[in-house]
Amino acid sequence: MDVVVLAGGYGGARLAATLSEHLAGAGGADHGGHLTVIANVADDVRLHDLYISPDLDTIMYTLGGGLDTERGWGRRDEAFRTNEELALYGVPTWFGLGDRDLATHLVRSQMRRAGYSLTQVTAALCRRWGLEEAGVTLLPVTDDRVETHVVMQTDAGPEAVHFQEWWIRHGAQPRPQEFVQVGLSDARPSREAIAAIQQADLIVLAPSNPVVSIGPILAVPGVSQAIVESPAPVVGVSPIISGRPLRGMADTCLNAIGVDVSAEGVASHYGAAREGGLLDTWIIDTADAGQQAAVTASGIDCVVTGTVMDSPAVRAGLAAAILAQVRS
Ligand code: GDP
Ligand code: CA
Repeated sequence: MDVVVLAGGYGGARLAATLSEHLAGAGGADHGGHLTVIANVADDVRLHDLYISPDLDTIMYTLGGGLDTERGWGRRDEAFRTNEELALYGVPTWFGLGDRDLATHLVRSQMRRAGYSLTQVTAALCRRWGLEEAGVTLLPVTDDRVETHVVMQTDAGPEAVHFQEWWIRHGAQPRPQEFVQVGLSDARPSREAIAAIQQADLIVLAPSNPVVSIGPILAVPGVSQAIVESPAPVVGVSPIISGRPLRGMADTCLNAIGVDVSAEGVASHYGAAREGGLLDTWIIDTADAGQQAAVTASGIDCVVTGTVMDSPAVRAGLAAAILAQVRS
């Protein structure tokens, strides 16, 4: 069974871990069950001459057991001494760079400068975390540079900044007018990612931010088309529960692109597969059971179950609901 997950950082990593646990628990990893995680790279940023890939790292650390699960990013048992030293030199330190985390960025940056692609670097980094042994392949959606920039409203008028600058430095406070993926039109999708989509028995849209995580994956030329043309069913999990994201700023992002901040709103945004959109099935939280009829009426099968991946029971139930969609 080949399962492909499209994922941003925190929500994507949690779903990838949930599915990987379940595939392994069902003997999947030993019996040919395989998970390919196709990750967003549009949050990537270059700082201090380092190549930083926050979503790839969040997924890798989560699957490898190295994530700080409280913070939701970076390494556990982390210290920030290097950042403190940088601050004393007057260097901007709004982007949190942990000392342990820094090692990942140093290896990635050295390999990138030596000419290895982001796909190759990611595979090398993942070796340390034992992902292949766990039956998981992590792939950046593209080896090319694509960056989300936010056109934000300021007192001085609109100003475009890198996504990380809007999100971390400005605390997502200035109202976003537009999200633009710079570099998108020239980007080519990863050959490995397209092959995984073509061979998949099931394609899953993680409950990641639809605008700045899943959006930039789908927008890489060729990716959406490969998903639509794949015979594999497409199932998504709603990141919105009771009209709110569990964490992060998906509500602000959805508002900016005119999508209703609800499980149903995000389903319509992705669209029904039978009408040229992406989704065969949409999984919504029990808290939103009232929206099931509306989603079904839009031509998308709708499954209601617990989706807050905090307890083993909910994770098992969610994984079972997703894997039940595998093409027969
Ligand atoms: P980021 O790149 O770290 O911002 O993370 P993602 O884009 O992958 O995920 C952010 C989204 O994940 C938020 O909108 C959350 O609502 C959603 N999310 C996180 N954990 C869960 C969960 O346990 N269940 C559901 N349904 N959504 C979740
Ligand atoms: Ca992200």
